[in-house]
Amino acid sequence: MAGIYIHVPFCKKKCLYCDFFSIGISSKVYEFPLFIENELLLRKGFIGDVPIDTIYFGGGTPSLLLPEIISNTLNCIAKNFSVSKNSEITIEVNPDDLTNDLLIGYYTTGVNRISIGIQSFLENELLFLGRRHSAVAAEKSVELSVNAGFKNISIDLIYGLPNSNINSWEYNLRKAFSLDIKHLSCYHLTYEDGTVLYRRLKEDKIKELEESISVQQFNLLRELANQKGFAHYEVSNFAKEGYNSRHNTSYWQGIHYLGLGPAAHSYNGLQREWNPNSYREWKLGIKSNKPATQFENIDAKTRFNELLLTHLRTAVGVNLDDLTKNFSRAMVEKLFINAQNHLKISTIEIKNNHLLIPSEYFFISDGIIKDLLIVD
Ligand code: SF4
Repeated sequence: MAGIYIHVPFCKKKCLYCDFFSIGISSKVYEFPLFIENELLLRKGFIGDVPIDTIYFGGGTPSLLLPEIISNTLNCIAKNFSVSKNSEITIEVNPDDLTNDLLIGYYTTGVNRISIGIQSFLENELLFLGRRHSAVAAEKSVELSVNAGFKNISIDLIYGLPNSNINSWEYNLRKAFSLDIKHLSCYHLTYEDGTVLYRRLKEDKIKELEESISVQQFNLLRELANQKGFAHYEVSNFAKEGYNSRHNTSYWQGIHYLGLGPAAHSYNGLQREWNPNSYREWKLGIKSNKPATQFENIDAKTRFNELLLTHLRTAVGVNLDDLTKNFSRAMVEKLFINAQNHLKISTIEIKNNHLLIPSEYFFISDGIIKDLLIVD
């Protein structure tokens, strides 16, 4: 079982917080699908002959591609791999791009999960983030998706914005839960080097939200999600039963995946590969039948640390039997030495033979996981 990720790098406008690889929209949109198909043919061996369980169109802005393009790409994948009958096929969309026809088109191609980059239902917050959609479009996007036939709808929200407070966040959450969604991803705003918001922060034009308010927002998120029947299954992700993102879960479980498109990453258990953060370099590599992909071999220590970094983000945690089966005794012992203090204060627990971070501590999971990694 494996996954395929397609990075669609085009954005009509750069959001002020975003450090993902993206480029402006141009005639490249028309040539892009052909290069994706060629890349698939050139690099399909990376994950071997395994059934594909999930396909994910991410970005950038995949909703800038017409349904015909998505359909052609899916057909190409189906010709080259055996795609599971009940595969999860996701497309990330921007509320501003959505129309009835576009969504029905996507649904008809076999896309069965939609992930909408809403980020906020408040006009002032959307403006602050530099999003190109309005609060009205944000709300309408879910309704349009439902009308097109989508049952598996996910939305993204961002919390921890400067000038936000518990009331504005509650407004966003209540609005989200009033809609027909099955999955919610909530990310705390981060100030990534190179973004406009990072520069504004450094120039003292904006101030980070006080951590105590961020914690209140996180706790409210957990409380309302729980009330509405959404399980907190990963640090930033909540879902109704049966609607966890299978694609993202496969990243956290170390399942192999092939990433296509500029800046996309791939993993096959032994190697990690990544495409250049340059459309031109990526395209020239495909054109010359020599993909400009870089790679690293993953040694046991890296594999061990990556397993902690991914599995401990999930409510399930790390299976201790898997650890002892796949890694040296010395590594597992080192992990328990590193975990001692956290086990004492219960920021880490052992449950059903799994080492896990209780979800109420997910807010500080980065710090906890860092303490556990093997560094020497
Ligand atoms: S957040 Fe999404 S839409 Fe905005 S610039 Fe980044 S990739 Fe593009």
